[in-house]
Amino acid sequence: MSGSEAETLFERIIGGEIPADVVYQDETTFAFRDIRAQARVHVLVVPRKRYRNVAELAAGDPQLLSDVIATARKVAELEGILESGYRVVFNTDEDAGQTVFHVHAHVLGGEPLGLFGAPEQD
Ligand code: AMP
Repeated sequence: MSGSEAETLFERIIGGEIPADVVYQDETTFAFRDIRAQARVHVLVVPRKRYRNVAELAAGDPQLLSDVIATARKVAELEGILESGYRVVFNTDEDAGQTVFHVHAHVLGGEPLGLFGAPEQD
């Protein structure tokens, strides 16, 4: 964990300093709606303990990564999209558009999702 860095936006949300629409939380993870939803269901799942990205989380605490995935499934269940399906995305660094360097899974669904991975248009 890069614990010496300044607090991230998501640590401030988890700490209650910044309001969020919380969907689910437990001892190790915290889930809330994305402020700029890109699908009918768009929830972010964040481990309470900070890692920069999913690779660092996997290397540093595989059980916690497993908890994040389990919470993504729980969110899908709570949102009623387990049967219809959902997408889990971890943006990693610049070209993927990562903006918050506290690892988070985007859980997307609630409608048919388009293709993804296309380069950004000018
Ligand atoms: P990423 O681009 O993968 O780092 O994802 C960061 C996400 O955080 C974006 O989808 C933003 O819309 C979302 N976001 C930024 N600020 C907030 C906030 N205050 N509450 C909820 N979601 C936020």
